Amino acid sequence: MNDVIIIGGSFAGLAAALQLGRARRKVTVLDTGLPRNRFAGHSHGLLGHDHKPPLDILAEARRQLARYPAITLVNARAESISGAIDNFSVVTGDGESLAARRLILSYGVADQMPDVPGFAECWGTSIVPCPYCDGFEVAGQHWGLVWSSPQSHQSARLFRDWTDKLTVFADGHEIPPEIQADLAGRNIPVIEGRIVEIAHQKGQLSTVNLATGRNVAVDVLFAHPRNKPSASLHEALGLATQDTPTGIVLKVDERRQTSVPGIYAAGDLATPFLPSVTQASSQGAMAGIFAQQSMLA
Ligand SMILES: Cc1cc2nc3c(=O)[nH]c(=O)nc-3n(C[C@H](O)[C@H](O)[C@H](O)COP(=O)(O)OP(=O)(O)OC[C@H]3O[C@@H](n4cnc5c(N)ncnc54)[C@H](O)[C@@H]3O)c2cc1C
Repeated sequence: MNDVIIIGGSFAGLAAALQLGRARRKVTVLDTGLPRNRFAGHSHGLLGHDHKPPLDILAEARRQLARYPAITLVNARAESISGAIDNFSVVTGDGESLAARRLILSYGVADQMPDVPGFAECWGTSIVPCPYCDGFEVAGQHWGLVWSSPQSHQSARLFRDWTDKLTVFADGHEIPPEIQADLAGRNIPVIEGRIVEIAHQKGQLSTVNLATGRNVAVDVLFAHPRNKPSASLHEALGLATQDTPTGIVLKVDERRQTSVPGIYAAGDLATPFLPSVTQASSQGAMAGIFAQQSMLA
């Protein structure tokens, strides 16, 4: 039996495996190779790995994990989980059944592309979610922000550290008059109308096209599409979740344990605020350590 099965072997899952492997705990990592930031040319903000392609960072991590004989990396999808602490069962897409005393869920979330032609093609290139990830490279350029929730007001204020050329796209939302006044006071124009198309060339957007017939040129667009967990395994065991403005995440305690004893969670799947590679790696490491410490004789 495995000590731990980790479902999702990206930044969070591999960081958990590293701690468990160093503690000589038998661990299997199941992964389907689709990290959330695979659309981005470069990953930013992870100390020591800044401005590297995300898949290169992960490939290097996997090479380093090969030192540890207790870690098995498997390219397979986890299809179902069942059981309870000290006796969990995971069935893979190949029909194999694996057993473990603990589970770490780190299968991330998937961004749901809106039904707007051109949006998905630009995602990760010229439509991006986070200024800390991609702001520096486009500082001083003309940014657009797609309004999605009251939190967009905070984004508009935040973006001023990178550019003073910002346009807000209401995209069908009613922006309250007091916020409209605040934006006007900051010289941030608000453009009404639903976005119906993103005109682009090979992922580099040229204009945001609106239902009103207006086409507005910006250099980069920040948007926060809704997301959902990349798998629904947590539903079978009824793990508690919490709502965020863009989707749901798993609830965890200070030791990264979910509402079900013996199941831990790390990374975007359990990060309600500012998900990042750094947070995922840190949480994964802690989930690995806490899972190991929960198995001491
Ligand atoms: C466009 C874009 C750019 C970004 N840029 C940055 C950046 O520059 N810096 C930064 O810090 N953050 C960035 N992020 C955020 C970053 O991608 C995430 O915070 C990070 O990938 C989270 O890591 P994770 O391990 O939790 O999940 P993920 O990296 O999403 O990995 C989840 C893994 O689980 C696997 N999986 C899913 N379901 C199953 C299953 N059933 N069985 C087995 N495996 C499964 C997937 O294939 C995947 O490999 C960006 C995000 C986006 C969308």
